[in-house]
Order: sequence, then structure tokens, then C-alpha cells
Amino acid sequence: MRSLSEPVVDDAGPGSVPTALQPGSTNAVGRMLGLLGDEWTLLILQRALRGTTRYGQFLDEVAISNAVLSARLATMEHEGLLRRVVYQDRPVRAEYVLTSRGRGLWPVTIAIWDWERRWVPRHAQTLPAMRHRLCGQDFAPVLTCRTCREAVHSSDVHAEWGPSGSWERSVPESTTRRRSDLRADRSAAGLFPETMSIFGNRWSSALIGASLRGLTRFGDFVDALGAPPSLVAERLRAFCDIGVLEARGRRGRGRVGRAEYHLTEKGHAFYPVVAVAIDWAQHWYAAAEGPALVQQHVPCGAPLVVALACDQCSTVLHGSDIEIVPRSARRADR
Ligand SMILES: [Zn+2]
Ligand SMILES: [Zn+2]
Repeated sequence: MRSLSEPVVDDAGPGSVPTALQPGSTNAVGRMLGLLGDEWTLLILQRALRGTTRYGQFLDEVAISNAVLSARLATMEHEGLLRRVVYQDRPVRAEYVLTSRGRGLWPVTIAIWDWERRWVPRHAQTLPAMRHRLCGQDFAPVLTCRTCREAVHSSDVHAEWGPSGSWERSVPESTTRRRSDLRADRSAAGLFPETMSIFGNRWSSALIGASLRGLTRFGDFVDALGAPPSLVAERLRAFCDIGVLEARGRRGRGRVGRAEYHLTEKGHAFYPVVAVAIDWAQHWYAAAEGPALVQQHVPCGAPLVVALACDQCSTVLHGSDIEIVPRSARRADR
């Protein structure tokens, strides 16, 4: 059985040193969304965290085409998540090893796993269990405050834009991928369809962020995000369809503009994914002006620094203490 995220040895490259962002450029949140808002990247990352390093292994385990795999590995190496290490000269063979920056994403994959398991019923059957080595129990991660150690809910957090924050700077730059590539990507992966409908599109993630910050009206979403109204309307409908938002109030004559859109319980439950991803982003992408978001855990008053804790023994989780239990092994245990 493998644990998640074994320790790695870093060089002094981008994998171990935070990226300095240019003044006025896309901020930490936008950079993170641009990178992680891609299902293939998340799938490769998930395998890498479980110990996969070789090209052929990724090819088998992720069921991905050569072209897509090569492109994603190159991007992940460029962004400092993976380091290519040559282990044989003739013929040249290399493996892809997680850097500290890449390994630091384990909480994001665990938070996604937990949300999909709880809220996307068709997934519950196929996802493995996770076991905490310290207590020996199958666990669920609990988003907690590092200062007071209490569980953190989205409603407990006060967030304001920091010096590098604004909607404009938090939306990832549009990708240059051609539409045909995009279609090919989607049909082959499909493992985190609902996570991707929230995360995998520049406007989707911004819209969920706006909802978490209390926006409810169509016009307010359009104004705040500077997004095309037709796109906002389409995304609001899609989020209602998967049950992340619900429309309330004056919805007369089917007009999207009259209703208020509130996060459902399922929508609020996605907050840990957002929180750990922002935490990672603000650590690894440093804007000269200052952070993109300034957050406070209201109940204790401390600046928000999050951790995932084990719901069984309440201790803070570390990636190396998490074991993935295949479903077959789990049955044999009983
Ligand atoms: Zn606290
Ligand atoms: Zn535990």
C-alpha cells in the first residue's frame, strides 16, 4: 500500500522556490485556477502523489493519449510541479518526480476526493478509501484553523481582497487550446465531472468564489466578474442543475435575471477544496504588492491558515500519513 506524497529531494528550481509575480499581472488565485482547472492535470497529479513517476505508467493508469500526456507533463514541469530526472542514458529514460510545490497539492486532491465521494453519488462506488496511519482508521478530512484547531466553515471566514486581489486579476488568462482539443480531453477523462464544472472553467470558478463571498444576483455577478451575461446565465443554470446553487425568489417567466442564487449545502461543502487550493496558491505565487486575499477566521480572530485534520483522531493530517486503500483490499479487511 502506498502513502500519499512521500518526501522528495528538491533542487533550487521553481519547484522549491515561490514564483514572484509581476506587478499588475494575474494573481495567485488566477494562476492556481489556470493550472488546476484542468482535469488531466489533476489526474496526473493524483497518480504522481501515489508514487507514479514513469511516462508509461501514467499512460496506463490515467488512460490518456500520448499527445495529451506529453503536453500536460511539459506544463507541469514548466510550472514547477514535477521535475524530469534522467535515470538511464542509453536509451534515455526519465521519470517525473514531484517537487515540494507539486507535493504541496495533496490537500487539494484529498479535498476533491472527499467532496466527490459525499456529493456525487455515482462516484462513491469507485473511489478508494483513505486510511490515516497514525490512528489506523478510514478517515474523512476536516478543514480546520491552524490557530484555534476548530473546524472551519465557509460562513466562519471573512475574506477581503488584498493588494494584488480583484476579480479581474483572479480569473486565469484564457487558454489558447483549440476547441477540438478541449472536446477530446473532456470525453476521455470525466473522472471528476462535477469538480471540473466548478473548477475547470475560468468563469465557473470565479462565479463560485463570488457566491462564497455572498453575491446572489445575476446582475451583481455580471458586474463583479466582468463576464459576458450569456455566459453567467449559462453557468448559473449549470450550477443549479448539479445542485451547487439554488435559485430562489422571483423566477417568473423563466428569466434568469429575476432570481437570487444561493449556494446549497453541496455548494458550501466545496469550500474546503477552495480553501486549501487558495492556501497553496498564496504560498507558491507571491505578488510584490502583497497577497490576493486576506482572510480571517472570525471565531478566533486569527488570520486564516488552514489544515486538514483527521475526523477520527482529530490530529492534523500529513500527506505521508495517508494510505490509499484499494477497494479490494478494503473488502478483504472485513
Ligand atoms: Zn481559528
Ligand atoms: Zn486519524
